[in-house]
Amino acid sequence: MNKYDVAIIGGGILGTAISYWLSTIPNLKTCVIEKESSVAQHASSRNTGVIHSPFYLDPQKKKTIARSAAVSRSLWKEFSISGNIPWMECGTLEVAMDDSQHKILEKYIQWGAQNGIPEDALRLMDSSEVSKKEPNVRCISGIYCSQDVSTDYGMMTRALHDHSKSNNVAFLFDHKMTGIKNTGDLLELQFFNNPSVECKFVLNCAGGSSLEIAKMFGLAKDYSSLHFRGEYWIAEKQYENLVNTNVYSVAKFTNFPFLDPHWIKRANGTTEIGPNAVPVANPETYSGYVGNISDVVSKLGEILSGSSKKLLVNPEFLSLISKEWKSSLSKTAMVNRVKQFIPKISPDFFVKRGTSGIRTPIISKRGEFLSEILEIDGNDSFHILNYNSPGATGAPAYSALIVKKLQEKGILNLKNMRQSFWNFDKTVEQINI
Ligand SMILES: Cc1cc2nc3c(=O)[nH]c(=O)nc-3n(C[C@H](O)[C@H](O)[C@H](O)COP(=O)(O)OP(=O)(O)OC[C@H]3O[C@@H](n4cnc5c(N)ncnc54)[C@H](O)[C@@H]3O)c2cc1C
Repeated sequence: MNKYDVAIIGGGILGTAISYWLSTIPNLKTCVIEKESSVAQHASSRNTGVIHSPFYLDPQKKKTIARSAAVSRSLWKEFSISGNIPWMECGTLEVAMDDSQHKILEKYIQWGAQNGIPEDALRLMDSSEVSKKEPNVRCISGIYCSQDVSTDYGMMTRALHDHSKSNNVAFLFDHKMTGIKNTGDLLELQFFNNPSVECKFVLNCAGGSSLEIAKMFGLAKDYSSLHFRGEYWIAEKQYENLVNTNVYSVAKFTNFPFLDPHWIKRANGTTEIGPNAVPVANPETYSGYVGNISDVVSKLGEILSGSSKKLLVNPEFLSLISKEWKSSLSKTAMVNRVKQFIPKISPDFFVKRGTSGIRTPIISKRGEFLSEILEIDGNDSFHILNYNSPGATGAPAYSALIVKKLQEKGILNLKNMRQSFWNFDKTVEQINI
């Protein structure tokens, strides 16, 4: 049986970034366990592709994710230049449609500073300044963030995989973890269709399935999760340049972790609108509404018995969900959400759907969406749940923070770490949490 010091479950951007840092530790035998045939087949390739500047994140409630995003931007820049990965500095406009939203933008300017965004990267503009910059955008005011970037996170993850692999991390593809057995000193990981492997320590980075994996370890019993599909529509070529920057609007429901659909400039040169947030049965229902019937039945069972059932009597949540459903069933409803701030667009400008992706927020015992990443310690395991947007942005710095935490717990010895293209100590110091 193959034996490892550390097994990482999940070859998304998070698991792969952690594997890269671990690959610089001498004599540590690490593997990444991934049920697909390559890295980044799920959320890490199926997202909006924006390197977010975290001006819109509450520095108290979302400190870890905000600081990780702020610190990671320069790390990704260095990485993309060295690996020839798209880096398109297109900037983002976040627009307010009424006075209450304008007040939120004023607060965002302060949050941006607290989260470490350089002052000259954020500018609050009135409507005439916005129309001078983008004549087809309508709003009462907007924040322009000049340092937002569009990239391809799938490519970033594949390049990280190549570096980890050449530093001797083993990637066990087509290995779907189905169970765990404690064999005394070691943990035995069991798979669908593959022989077991043994390891001393497990790091759970399984994205939309991380709650399920944590429960295999007898942890996270009080939590439940819901899966929300984000759908996109691609603008026809002749309408792509109606607006030349990303445009987001202030989120209407601040207790829920979704932004309203936006106008997106993709790193491959296309323009899209999206994503909405349609509830689906499992983390891989990329089209249709039913998915696998047994998943639907078990999800419904979870909703009716777990903490998520409290959401079913929350009128704000029900109103959000009905809007999201409408924008999934009707292209016009989706386009109308963006039309509020780009009045020139119409449904016939969008003929093809983009690649959808699924977010899996974790719900607390009280029926509330968690605002931060959820880290859970187990015996010989560490679990990362609720790793949602802007998780792809924050991956290089957040993964360094996790490695540091594991050192502080006595699990890793970071003496004589090999030279890497990112500086480990500086990265951890900059996060400053
Ligand atoms: C629609 C959408 C838009 C987004 N936009 C942005 C954005 O613009 N900017 C940004 O920064 N972030 C964005 N995000 C968030 C970002 O994509 C995620 O935070 C990030 O990709 C999560 O990475 P991950 O590695 O945790 O998860 P994943 O990429 O989902 O990886 C988890 C991996 O675990 C594997 N796995 C699961 N179960 C098992 C098992 N039992 N055995 C073995 N392997 C298993 C899966 O196959 C998968 O490869 C967006 C997300 C979505 C869905």
